Amino acid sequence: MKIINPATEQILTEIEADSPRLIHNAYHSAVEAQSLWANRSLKDRIKHIRNFDRLLEENKEDLAKTLTNEVGKPIWQSINEINGARGRIAYFLDNSDRWLTSETINQTEGLIEKISYEPLGVIGNISAWNYPFLVGVNVFIPALIAGNAVLYKASEYAALTGLKIEALMHEAGIPQHVFQTITGGAETGETLLTLPLDGYFFTGSYKTGQYIYEKVAKKMVPCQMELGGKDPLYVNADNADIKAVAAAAAEGAFYNAGQSCCAVERIYVHELHYEEFIEAFVDEVKNMKVGDPRDKDTYIGPLTRESQVDFLQNQAGHALLKGARIIYGEDRWEGKGYYFLPTIMVDVDHSMRIMTEESFGPLIGVQKVSGDAEAIALMKDTDYGLTAAVYSDHLESAEPVLQAMRSGSVYWNCCDRVSANLPWSGRGNSGIGSTLSYQGIRAFVQPKAYHLRG
Ligand code: NAD
Repeated sequence: MKIINPATEQILTEIEADSPRLIHNAYHSAVEAQSLWANRSLKDRIKHIRNFDRLLEENKEDLAKTLTNEVGKPIWQSINEINGARGRIAYFLDNSDRWLTSETINQTEGLIEKISYEPLGVIGNISAWNYPFLVGVNVFIPALIAGNAVLYKASEYAALTGLKIEALMHEAGIPQHVFQTITGGAETGETLLTLPLDGYFFTGSYKTGQYIYEKVAKKMVPCQMELGGKDPLYVNADNADIKAVAAAAAEGAFYNAGQSCCAVERIYVHELHYEEFIEAFVDEVKNMKVGDPRDKDTYIGPLTRESQVDFLQNQAGHALLKGARIIYGEDRWEGKGYYFLPTIMVDVDHSMRIMTEESFGPLIGVQKVSGDAEAIALMKDTDYGLTAAVYSDHLESAEPVLQAMRSGSVYWNCCDRVSANLPWSGRGNSGIGSTLSYQGIRAFVQPKAYHLRG
């Protein structure tokens, strides 16, 4: 596998993808190691995760550099990602005990009814490249704390980061076969699907997720999916500070070059504020520096995958053909790297792919609406259901819209946000199951009901 720097198109290094034979061996060694790991106390497993967390902090600069080099994320955003991952780890360190300890539910004369939480066994974590630390820790940290072994299939676009995570896990004292990074692309993922794993936890596109879900169905094991989105943001009539709303929307749409599962992907603005919003939004985006992701003041780096540049050009071209206009971002990037300059389109509608298909890049459509009813209908006009945001000065005017949404997360006066305290889940084509919160701790265990008479 060639590891390419998307900012320079230079080959950083070449690594070998794991062969099917190696992956089978990894599985067998994990089965053995898992039962020993599960037999250790919860306190002991937590201690090792604490070590890993400390190592993340100690190696932050180096990890951030590697991430920036292989995915093109601006360096300060790579640092932010590692800090964010540590925040999530802190949640798991503080809360796992409470949700994994056996509970006596009923105790009457001669009868005890108790629930214990047992690990699933050896789980496969097939992961994405856009936030390898964040989406990684959502799965492998609670899985390990609960006593599972993890085969972590890093994305082929974030393979070096995946190998560094593995090295730090082992340095933290987590046994070698309890956490193993598997390297390679789709074929490597396919090999994992042939193994009798005890659970599959996937983060990636709807297309791959649906394929994996079908394949895994026959195994009758838990199979969770964290997939894509086409997340809407609505600016209703009840807003006084449109500049501030435009600034928040621009960040939600263009952070990490729009390559976030919960990035703002389409914007609806009440006709009262439309002109003012567009002006303020364009002003915000103009100030986002595009360039070398190693520079501290770069806001938008290259896209991670070369093919995505054409994809976005086609999506924008489709909208243009159907009557949309580009009001910012006419130019193309001259020079090396997989760059797509931030682009804002208006006069858009839902006959255009830009408003219905995940863009996953710095391209956005802004549509004018007449009021809440139209906004709700348009926001719900999607097969995805990850997040939806409403900006409004009063919760009372936002709440009916939030309640109407068919999505895993809804936001009032914020967007593009994930909290370890709350379940992270999608509806429809955005996925099945939850990570984070107590639900994301319990996702990695199976309950056993004890009926004890005596
Ligand atoms: P992808 O579906 O292309 O790949 C994801 C993983 O699946 C990679 O590790 C890849 O090697 C593997 N894979 C590909 N084909 C496979 C196959 N046939 N069998 C087994 N494994 C296979 O997705 P991506 O490009 O890495 O990630 C981008 C997508 O992920 C976007 O749609 C984004 O919205 C979504 N995402 C969702 C969340 C979330 O929390 N909901 C988080 C991050 C990313």
